[in-house]
Amino acid sequence: MLSTLHHPPRSLSRFLPSKSKPRSFHTKPILSSSHPIIEQPHASSTSPPQSQILSIRHSLLSRHVTATQLAESYLTRLKLTEPQLNSFLHLSNNVLKEAQAIDEKIRRNEDVGPLAGVLVGVKDNICTVDMPSTAGSKVLENYCPPFDATAVKRVKELGGIVVGKTNLDEFGMGSTTEASAFQVTANPWDVSRVPGGSSGGSAAAVSARQCVVSLGSDTGGSVRQPASFCGVVGLKPTYGRVSRFGLMAYASSLDVIGCFGSSVADAGILLNAVSGHDRLDATSSKQEVPDFTSQFVSATLLESKPLKGLRVGIIRETLDNGVDTGVKSAILGAVSHLEELGCTLSEVSLPTFSLGLPAYYILASSESSSNLSRYDGVRYGNQVVADELNALYEDSRAKGFGSEVKMRILMGTYALSAGYYDAYYKRAQQVLQSSFMCGQEKFHPSACVRTLIQKSFKAALDENDILISPAAPSAAYKIGEKKNDPLAMYAGDIMTVNVNLAGLPALVLPCGFVEGGPAGLPVGLQMIGAAFDEEKLLKVGHVFEQTLQDCRFVPPLVADGFAQ
Ligand code: GLN
Repeated sequence: MLSTLHHPPRSLSRFLPSKSKPRSFHTKPILSSSHPIIEQPHASSTSPPQSQILSIRHSLLSRHVTATQLAESYLTRLKLTEPQLNSFLHLSNNVLKEAQAIDEKIRRNEDVGPLAGVLVGVKDNICTVDMPSTAGSKVLENYCPPFDATAVKRVKELGGIVVGKTNLDEFGMGSTTEASAFQVTANPWDVSRVPGGSSGGSAAAVSARQCVVSLGSDTGGSVRQPASFCGVVGLKPTYGRVSRFGLMAYASSLDVIGCFGSSVADAGILLNAVSGHDRLDATSSKQEVPDFTSQFVSATLLESKPLKGLRVGIIRETLDNGVDTGVKSAILGAVSHLEELGCTLSEVSLPTFSLGLPAYYILASSESSSNLSRYDGVRYGNQVVADELNALYEDSRAKGFGSEVKMRILMGTYALSAGYYDAYYKRAQQVLQSSFMCGQEKFHPSACVRTLIQKSFKAALDENDILISPAAPSAAYKIGEKKNDPLAMYAGDIMTVNVNLAGLPALVLPCGFVEGGPAGLPVGLQMIGAAFDEEKLLKVGHVFEQTLQDCRFVPPLVADGFAQ
């Protein structure tokens, strides 16, 4: 049965550009001695992004700059750009103090960690001990957790400085940050557009160089889609690679903490910092964490076909209907670039692809309705004054949750309720049984879809090293455009949700532009890998990024803001 899920490669002619001309590769080393302390952003600059983390480390250890100077420089840019962006919900009061402590250590010739002096933004559904953590919800307004999430703890232990908490759709439910209870974040490429979501604040902050890297969470695409909209790198690790301890649960079987950076190297270095088993999260994996940084070979050392022999599968269904033409041609340009790098291309089919969206919204809503039951004003969450206990529960939830969250809770409770189980879950199961011949096997209905999705990915990844697709069917759209059309908004998750259902790692990185805004709008390419093979994704992504020509990486807002 499995092999029938994976169709043999068809002709690639409709995906491949008619002529592919050889390219000469950029030859900039990652760490040149003339590398600026902080990349001076120019909107017109098309040179590939260099690792800011490595650059900062080099500058600090060679005493070219202090951590305090660096922090001040980022904070200045943050102050200039934040009034237009609203990326952050809270800013830390300790940034300069922590930077001074790093300077002190360097002065005393003590070891500093690999993230020393690196300003990190943290999505506000990830707990931090010294700042509020609200998940973008009124139900947690002013809540200050008594602990750091494991990922945050690891960042701090390695010298990273948490600069603030970034805006998000309430509890991660949304695709634009418009469902935040507090503010809407704008896209640095065009402030009249959304940055994507739900980790829109984390993506916008890195895109606008308000911080060096950031942490987000990805349940159905919330790291990858905003990375695509904001023109930055977003990495969704394999489920279990990064501890979820301290991540406020949306849908526990899908949630992962992910990494944003302005280069593939930075996202990989951050992943290295936060990965690994954690006894506080029973689902965190004991799988060994390789040194992802060993992948980041300087572009000068690349051979002419640096990805020779790498088998890349283009997921047929993701380039069919419903994808904007500009996005499609940017992806085809990326396909052609991969071919020039030496990759062997083929077209693969994931017949279960279209099942991902309905399965995701049933599972995610069901899990969230259960996870969010704890916010009743007694066990968790802000409490309203009421005359009796039931009214206290009801009013605390009614006032605490926004409309999108309430809709998800209703959908999930409905899907899980005994009376409707047959009408929805079971019917979905029967359709699947006839289409995919599950036969007499007794699957839990939702598990059935997930199992089929996992199997079809596995079949495709047995024959390919990586799979590629757009990260989203469109580039960033206008603020308000889809706010009142939830189904259109949900449909935008089509490229990403399957990956969460299968628990696989995926990397999104800029690959081109479409028209729109003052300087064009970025398009992200999604690369999907086998479970726990982030290393390969990072290697391929790095080579792709460092050899990409004529792609802009810095939004106009930053160039303008920086010049002020
Ligand atoms: N947009 C999707 C949703 O609203 C994904 C969100 C996420 O990954 N947190 O569920």
